[in-house]
Order: sequence, then C-alpha cells, then structure tokens
Amino acid sequence: GWLSAAYISKLLDLQKNQNYSVKVVESPDIPTIGIGEATIPTIIEIFQFLDISEDKWMRKCDATFKLGTRFENWYEGKEAFWHPNARKFFQKSDHSKLIFEWLEYSFSGGTSSFESCFEAIISSCLQNKSPKLESDIQYSSKLEYAYHFDSRKFADFFQSHCLELGVTLISDTVQEVCLDENGYISHLNCAHHCITGDFFIDCTGFKGLLINQALQEPFISYSDYLLCNSAVVAADSLETNDKFNFQNREIRPYTNSKALSSGWMWNIPLVSKTSYGYVYSNHCISKEEAEKEFISELPSSVTQSPRHISMRVGRTKRPWVKNCLSVGLSSGFIEPLESTGIFIIEYALYYLRYFFPDKNHNPKISEQYNDVMRKEYEEILDFVTMHYVLSKRENSEFWKHYKFSASYPSSLSDKLERWTVRWPNSPN
Ligand SMILES: Cc1cc2nc3c(=O)[nH]c(=O)nc-3n(C[C@H](O)[C@H](O)[C@H](O)COP(=O)(O)OP(=O)(O)OC[C@H]3O[C@@H](n4cnc5c(N)ncnc54)[C@H](O)[C@@H]3O)c2cc1C
Repeated sequence: GWLSAAYISKLLDLQKNQNYSVKVVESPDIPTIGIGEATIPTIIEIFQFLDISEDKWMRKCDATFKLGTRFENWYEGKEAFWHPNARKFFQKSDHSKLIFEWLEYSFSGGTSSFESCFEAIISSCLQNKSPKLESDIQYSSKLEYAYHFDSRKFADFFQSHCLELGVTLISDTVQEVCLDENGYISHLNCAHHCITGDFFIDCTGFKGLLINQALQEPFISYSDYLLCNSAVVAADSLETNDKFNFQNREIRPYTNSKALSSGWMWNIPLVSKTSYGYVYSNHCISKEEAEKEFISELPSSVTQSPRHISMRVGRTKRPWVKNCLSVGLSSGFIEPLESTGIFIIEYALYYLRYFFPDKNHNPKISEQYNDVMRKEYEEILDFVTMHYVLSKRENSEFWKHYKFSASYPSSLSDKLERWTVRWPNSPN
C-alpha cells in the first residue's frame, strides 16, 4: 500500500500539484502479512524512479544484496542448482547466445554445468562477496543484484517517505465499501471516517476487500497447478549492539531454497536476522507435521515460535474494475518461490503509469491493463510450476504428484513441447 502510494504521489508530482490528494487508509488493528523479503533486480528501477538513496533505504530496512537463488535438493541426483540474477543473458540479445551455446555444448555431450556460464556470480555467492563496493555509485554494479530486506521495516520506510511527500495517513478500519448506482466505489465507511475518492487502490491483502468482496470480481485459483497453499515462518535475531559491524561476520548474498517433503524452505539473510519459512501443501502434510519438519531444519539460534500463514494462490480475474485497482496480494499471488510477489506490485505500478485513468474511466484502458497483467501472471505461473514438474523428486506424496499426476497450465505444456525441438527464447 505504501509503495503504491509513493509511486502514485511521484507520478502526480504531489508535492507541487495541489489538484490531487493521496490518502492511505490503514487499519491499526489488521497487521500486514509481515513477510516478503526476497526480490528480483527489477526492484532497482522503482527505487530509481522514486529518487530514493540506496544507502539510506538499505540501512533502514536491514537490507542485504541478493545475487540469485540456490535451489538445494530440488533436482534428484544433484545437490543444488542456481538461478543467478543475470537477466541480460536470458533476454533476446547478443548475451543470450551464451545460453544457446551452452545448450548446444551440453546436448553434444559437454559436462560443464549451466552454472559455469555464470562463474563470477556463483563464486561471489559462495565466497559471501558483495556485488559492489561502498564507494560504487548507487544502484550500479557489474553483477546484477536484487535485495533481501525486512518487510515490516520496508513498509515503515515507505510510510515515512509518503508522509514527506504529502500523503495523508488515515489510521482506521474500513467497515463498508459503498457503491454508486453504476457500481463504482463512491466512498468507504470506516469506524471513524467516511472517505470519498475518484480512484481506489485495493491493497488489503489476500481478502481483496474492495475488488473481490465489494466489486465481486472472481478470484482464479491456481491450486490445480501449484499445491503449496500454506507457510510456517520464523527468524533468529542477531545478538549485537552494532548490526552494521561486519568485521567478524559475513552475509550470504543469495536466497537458499531447499526442497522438503511437501514443499520447500527459504533461508534469507538480513542484516539483523535470518528469516526462514517452509512453504507447503496442507493437502500433503498437516500443519503440525509441517511445523515439526520445519523446526527440525532450523538452526538452534531460532528461538521464536513459528507463525502459520495461509496463502491464496492465483489471481483476481480483472485486477482493475471500474474505479478500483487491486495491487499486491489482493490482485494475486503465485507463491514466493521465485520472489515474484513484490515484482508483480512493481509491474502493476509500472503499467498504471501508462494506463493512468481519467475521470471518465474509459473501460478500454482498464481492459488493456488487465490483459497485460493476465499475461504476466500466466508467465510467472508457468515459470514457477516448471520448478516442480521438472524436479524428478518422488520421495513423498507431494513430489510424486508432480512427477506422475500433475496438471500443467496449457501454456506450459506448449512451451515444454516446443522446447523439445527449439531452444527456449530461440529467435528461430
Ligand atoms: C509466505 C509468504 C512469503 C512471501 N515471500 C515473498 C518474497 O520473498 N518476495 C516477494 O516479493 N514477495 C513475497 N511475498 C508476497 C509479499 O509478502 C506481498 O506481496 C507484500 O507483502 C504485499 O502485501 P500486501 O500489501 O498486498 O498485503 P498485506 O501485507 O496483507 O497488507 C494489507 C494491508 O491492508 C490493511 N487492511 C486490511 N483490511 C483493512 C481494512 N478493513 N481497513 C483498513 N485497512 C485494512 C492492513 O492493515 C494492511 O496494512 C510473500 C507472501 C507470503 C504469504
């Protein structure tokens, strides 16, 4: 919500433009999900757009660099594989020749791993090296990077940033979403306020208070393809008076994702703590068993009681309906495996910039926006589903399902079939 408010305030040049006002209604009684710590490199673009100092926000949010993700025990017969942050190698460009060359080499019997193409990134990860020096310019490095950060501190940071920009905070709970005779949102009745507006952004999380509940836009579940629908999370905390003293301490610059019996577990290093979470399917393992398995994987430094979270995996059919745009979990969520939760928020805001509404709310604009978002969700769904269906693990009900009886999104089946005769991203 605060990130959206910051973005929109910047778009509208709120500090100089008196014609607009941006209000954030945030319930003092309903906490944020308080999770969401790993990102992908696109996030840099949003910080740059918002003119936010990298040094400043990183310190405030206990952020660390992320050079990629290590997938441990995912692929039967292989200890780990990597997803390095190396977008330019995967996009259609001269760099992507490297991928084709490796594929050809590999199919003709070459045995060097795919990771060997990204030696600099993987070595930096394994040696706990930062992608940049303190003296390097902001948001720039030879190695592409993203971040891990404390999500509650991130929300607090953006709240302060928004208040400086002139956004109004209304600390209250929305009790009723009122529609006019055309089905547009006219106002929100809160416990202590009545809030009117031209355009409403629903950032109420999984419940989709405005978009799903009031406007009754259906939610398309992806549970046929993605079994994980729950998470259990915990963190340790650093025993130190100076969390920024790195003299006798190294920080791992990557997310670790370890396959477990009924899902996978993240391990995310932050400046002040390490965060852990087991993302699992409650059809394959009970909450109690998942917690037990999770605890058995945790280091003894974690003393916090685990917290359980239910996940609504899928997408709201049309994230933009009439004068309401849903952003964040209310719009959709494709489980955290590839850190796409915050990315899809960035994506939504980026396109809002191009499809910004006027007072007439021409439905052609929202239709086009919704189509852009649908395609991106479907692309992410294919990408994340692929991790499971190609894993070859079969040591539990969960993994057997993926190996022997999983249903695939049709777009993924098409891709996998095409890739048996053409390289992914192949220009011909
Ligand atoms: C287990 C898990 C792991 C994740 N990991 C990652 C990750 O590694 N990387 C990543 O990019 N993303 C991740 N995500 C997604 C990420 O957490 C979210 O995209 C992000 O936190 C945004 O959440 P949100 O603001 O949409 O919802 P929430 O955090 O749920 O916020 C909802 C807000 O709405 C307010 N609200 C609700 N109802 C009312 C009401 N009636 N009146 C007033 N206010 C109200 C609440 O007070 C709250 O402030 C993860 C999600 C889950 C579930």
